[in-house]
Amino acid sequence: MDDAPDVGELVPPDRTLLGPGPVDVHPRVLRAMATPLVGYLDDYYIDVMDDLQELLRYVFQTENEYTFAVSGTGSAAMETALSNLLEPGETALVPSNGYFGQRMGAVAERAGAEVVTVDAPWGEPLDPTDVEAAFEQHQPTVFGFVHGETSTGVQQHSVAELTEIAHAHDGYVVADTVPALGGVEFRTDAWDVDVVYTGAQKCLSAPPGVSPITFNDRAMEKVRNRETQVRSWYLDAADVWEYWGEERNYHHTGPISTSYAVREALRLIAEEGLEETWARHRRVGGALKAGVEALGPGLHVDDEYWLPTLNPVRVPDGVDDGRVIERMMDEHGIEIVGGLGALAGDIFRVGCMGHSARPAKIAGFIAAFGSVLESEGADVDTDAAAAAVSRGLAE
Ligand code: PLP
Repeated sequence: MDDAPDVGELVPPDRTLLGPGPVDVHPRVLRAMATPLVGYLDDYYIDVMDDLQELLRYVFQTENEYTFAVSGTGSAAMETALSNLLEPGETALVPSNGYFGQRMGAVAERAGAEVVTVDAPWGEPLDPTDVEAAFEQHQPTVFGFVHGETSTGVQQHSVAELTEIAHAHDGYVVADTVPALGGVEFRTDAWDVDVVYTGAQKCLSAPPGVSPITFNDRAMEKVRNRETQVRSWYLDAADVWEYWGEERNYHHTGPISTSYAVREALRLIAEEGLEETWARHRRVGGALKAGVEALGPGLHVDDEYWLPTLNPVRVPDGVDDGRVIERMMDEHGIEIVGGLGALAGDIFRVGCMGHSARPAKIAGFIAAFGSVLESEGADVDTDAAAAAVSRGLAE
């Protein structure tokens, strides 16, 4: 038979990834992926899993025993959190102020929960008073919230206040930190969050496919005492723990190469220091923000809730966002993306995460973005933008 497909060698183009993830990864992470495979129960891989757990406890800022990585992207971790904590008929309270908060609702519904929402406009965080009122009204078992909402670029502050409200009503709290963990301050234990998950391809700066999660003892006790089986066999946390915990029993084949990559990415964060990593994202993201403000369009988010890792840049009047995104890619090799849901057409989403949160990348973005917007007829001040970025980076 001579019908073998003739596809070319893999030569990915050289991009600067400034969208909502995946983001650029450090060469050391790429090299880790290219190292030899071992078996999923090889002593070497067990050590890698131990290292991962230790490093993850550091970035989650937790001492939780049940800290591991789900084989799958951030949505798999979301599904693990919600479908293990919720039993059919229980009530889940989720936010309506963003695309991923709404996804939490969709996932909770498939877990058999009654879903109720706490509302805020897209572009604003939840108000703890509204969360309190929703607890009074609905008595939910689980409250899920998004610490950094990728669709709006809003950071949810007052996390400890939210968990206090939930716990006063015997509720469990699930935090989605997918575009935030490792980029902005998050303290699982100090803020008393029951379950926290993230993705690998955002601020952790690794390839997608392995998603960290942590359950505190209280949450895991609820999981272990379920009256009904978790609907997903693959994502049953107590069963998956057989592989990550002391037993080390086969549950499913560990994602060897991606785990190597995440381990290396987390080592890089540990070497830099977590607080220094948060400070770098704030400084470099701050320079990006200052740059787009001086350029003209500015951000579609109040300074108070600004998430340094995901910047919702306003689309200037009369400019076609799709054309700008396409030209940024074609002419400059820079990936940015458009708005989602209620903000489609109104904003560009510009990420500043992990290895992409570097001064040269952000300065290059502002120069390219300014020149594309200018040639699309927008009224922009490219000199002021360049100066603002330099000042921001020097801070
Ligand atoms: N939650 C948030 C806040 C996200 O931004 C994303 C992805 O962008 C997800 C969940 C889902 O993650 P994934 O696309 O890796 O499945």
